[in-house]
Amino acid sequence: MSRSRLFALLLAIALAALALFGRGGGDSGEFRRARVLMGTVVEITLLDGGAASDAEAAMEAAFSAMAEVEASMSAHRDDSEVARLNAAAEPVEVSAATAEVLELGLRVATASGGAFDLTLGRLKALWGFDGDAPRVPSDPEIAAALQGIGPASLRLAGRRVTKGDAALRVDLGAIAKGYAVDRAVAALRAAGIRHASVNAGGDLRLLGDHGGRPWRIGIQHPRDPQGVLVTLELADAAVVTSGDYERFFEVEGVRYHHILDPRDGRPADACQSVTVVAASAAEADALATAAFVLGPEAGRRLVESRGGLALFVAADGEVSLSEDLKDRVRRP
Ligand code: ADP
Ligand code: MG
Repeated sequence: MSRSRLFALLLAIALAALALFGRGGGDSGEFRRARVLMGTVVEITLLDGGAASDAEAAMEAAFSAMAEVEASMSAHRDDSEVARLNAAAEPVEVSAATAEVLELGLRVATASGGAFDLTLGRLKALWGFDGDAPRVPSDPEIAAALQGIGPASLRLAGRRVTKGDAALRVDLGAIAKGYAVDRAVAALRAAGIRHASVNAGGDLRLLGDHGGRPWRIGIQHPRDPQGVLVTLELADAAVVTSGDYERFFEVEGVRYHHILDPRDGRPADACQSVTVVAASAAEADALATAAFVLGPEAGRRLVESRGGLALFVAADGEVSLSEDLKDRVRRP
């Protein structure tokens, strides 16, 4: 079975399971829905949905806000703004939302010294992580895909985007999912919801608390698919994890995963996973990817310099975390 067929099958099973158990804790008033968006299963839980029709309307608003982000920022859809930007040789006018994401991405790119780089679209395509046949490219192929990329080759003036090189390909894969989660939370808030969670396959944001207590969020163990590394107790925060186990292939026992180091064009090798807690999911998403590339020390400095907190599992399995995160961690 091809990878995408297998993925579709697994999604169908996951959705069926959620449909069965989606009523949450019986009398608890939890209201849960899941949908496939942005290449993953997005699950929204409302704790205070009120009447069923109000809860359905709030859910619908949140999912459509995310679908809108997907429609403009996906690199795979020919009609998206990102696809239009990628095909263009001339400056392109984008929506306010896409401009906002590009601006945040460029800021994190600068703050990370280029470890975060939303212009590496050609490099990502070369490795083929999105297709059925990923492969290890040759050194000359990698060198060619790195040619002319970098945050300095993308200029943003208001909503007008200029590529330094017509061949530049923008990829918002490390930030758009987080932004979509933020839009969903904004839609829920506008619908009067005050306690909810939006989880897009590990990009998660919490609105309010969980019945007067923090939410308990299990962070996946990077080497044990069924295992929880730690549980974080959080309220009103975004939690995003980037890991080398999410999308990878193996050749002769070597793992090649989808977070690339723009300095050498190869999978970043300092970490197994990075979890970032920040005020917004877009920020946490971008920082988790950036910190993954930078490694535990420089990565933690970057995250904390932008007001976030981080938890690292280094390549050798060693766990380290921000001082201010320690009192929110519970071992499983
Ligand atoms: P996930 O998509 O699994 O949640 P990430 O948020 O870490 O994980 O995003 C990984 C995606 O980001 C890759 O699939 C690719 O599209 C893009 N990407 C890979 N390396 C970088 C990088 N150094 N800087 C910015 N984007 C990257
Ligand atoms: Mg990310």
